Amino acid sequence: MIEMKDVWKTYPNGVMAVNGISVYIKKGEFVYVVGPSGAGKSTFVKMMYREERPTRGEISINGSNLAEMKEKKVPYLRRNMGIVFQDFKLLPSMTVFENVAFAMEVIEASKANIRKRVMNVLDIVRLKNKARFMPHELSGGEQQRVSIARAIVNSPAVLIADEPTGNLDIETSWEIMHILEEINERGTTVVMATHNREIVNNMRKRVIAIEGGRISRDEIRGRYGYES
Ligand code: ADP
Ligand code: ADP
Repeated sequence: MIEMKDVWKTYPNGVMAVNGISVYIKKGEFVYVVGPSGAGKSTFVKMMYREERPTRGEISINGSNLAEMKEKKVPYLRRNMGIVFQDFKLLPSMTVFENVAFAMEVIEASKANIRKRVMNVLDIVRLKNKARFMPHELSGGEQQRVSIARAIVNSPAVLIADEPTGNLDIETSWEIMHILEEINERGTTVVMATHNREIVNNMRKRVIAIEGGRISRDEIRGRYGYES
């Protein structure tokens, strides 16, 4: 489902962020990506949703080759992919409902389908009662739940999360993790870059550790493995 073959990424300023990564992630897996700051985690996940292009190597997601994909095809790739960021990236002048509905309007879903599906995903993230709220009226954890609802509204095969709990306290982070776990149990592959040791050590999922742009560890029921 997600496959990288000898992938390298050197940024235009000469920084070698990823140095020969090969990895295979099966459909339905839950994978943590861990490692020290600057190790290349973010570059690794950004290449999965084609925010960054590899300098060399092959990346395929559900059979399409991302390294060679033309820019105009990228939106189609992202339709089958949910992306969650540390800073939520909600549209501040739209309500919760509209933020989630927007992702379905882009794919030209019908009004009736949008209404039904948006309320359904807001129910999954337990925010049905806040559909009319504006993002600034929500706590950080609630804003992240809206961004998760937006990420899953089109039923993507893959959910990529880059430090989704980075701005949240530990209790709120656990709420987010239970939602991501539930989404994974419904069949979505989840790849999550994180610094949250407590969460990684408690969940015991696959852990891919990156150091110096290479995979230093890949464990089926792994641990965080760093002191900070
Ligand atoms: P991590 O997510 O593990 O902290 P990153 O992938 O963000 O690591 O960064 C890996 C290396 O690439 C770091 O040295 C970082 O400074 C560098 N880097 C990241 N993004 C860019 C960029 N857009 N341009 C140049 N260098 C970058
Ligand atoms: P947290 O526990 O994450 O700090 P807050 O104290 O920010 O949460 O928010 C607690 C509750 O109050 C949340 O359910 C949030 O939706 C609501 N809330 C916070 N700020 C506002 C606001 N300006 N208008 C309406 N509701 C708000």
